[in-house]
Amino acid sequence: MKQQLLEMEEYALENNVPIIEKDSIAFIMKFIKTNGIKSVLEIGSAIGYSAILMASSSADVTVTTIERDESRYMECLKNVKKCGLDKKINVVYQDALEVNLPNEVKYDLIFIDAAKAQNTKFFEKFKYFLTDDGAIITDNINFHGYVGESKMLDKSNLKSLVEKIEEYVEFLKTNPEFDTKFYDYGDGLAVSVWKNEK
Ligand code: SAH
Ligand code: MG
Repeated sequence: MKQQLLEMEEYALENNVPIIEKDSIAFIMKFIKTNGIKSVLEIGSAIGYSAILMASSSADVTVTTIERDESRYMECLKNVKKCGLDKKINVVYQDALEVNLPNEVKYDLIFIDAAKAQNTKFFEKFKYFLTDDGAIITDNINFHGYVGESKMLDKSNLKSLVEKIEEYVEFLKTNPEFDTKFYDYGDGLAVSVWKNEK
């Protein structure tokens, strides 16, 4: 398992796959343990790095993870098998915005880590599948320190992406349904829970 993780880290570096940073995933693994999380929905599997670590953070947690890129999906499947976690991780090959989940499924934790410009859409779609005491965690909320600094950037794809993340932060801060805490671990995490537990 340790060896598999090292190989994944190397693969990610060589192939420019943006896997989660160490202190962010450490925070999430602890969150899973201390909150007794049983089911996780991840948007954006990439090669399975974060899904594998979340699935191995407690004995009774299962992970459903969605990936739209075919080669990453294949790589993810391969890594999940190698780690012997195919019973705990269900990998779905589809665009998350097109996935139809059965109405009755609910997750204790939803981890949003896909196309950053779509964060609000993912949040609005998947909040209906969150348990009453569940949490939505979003990764890369600081986006390499650019978030909050978009005015300093020249017109570019980067500027518009950073502006989108800034809008998402505002969406979370002013959300009538959710309370959000922001953490500076790794590339920045947001943890959102229902206001006054439903
Ligand atoms: N969670 C992973 C990293 C994910 S990188 C880890 O930390 O190990 C983001 C991934 O989201 C990319 O592989 C990208 O293909 C995928 N993605 C982006 N938009 C998506 C969408 N709408 N539906 C499904 N996957 C998406
Ligand atoms: Mg990320």
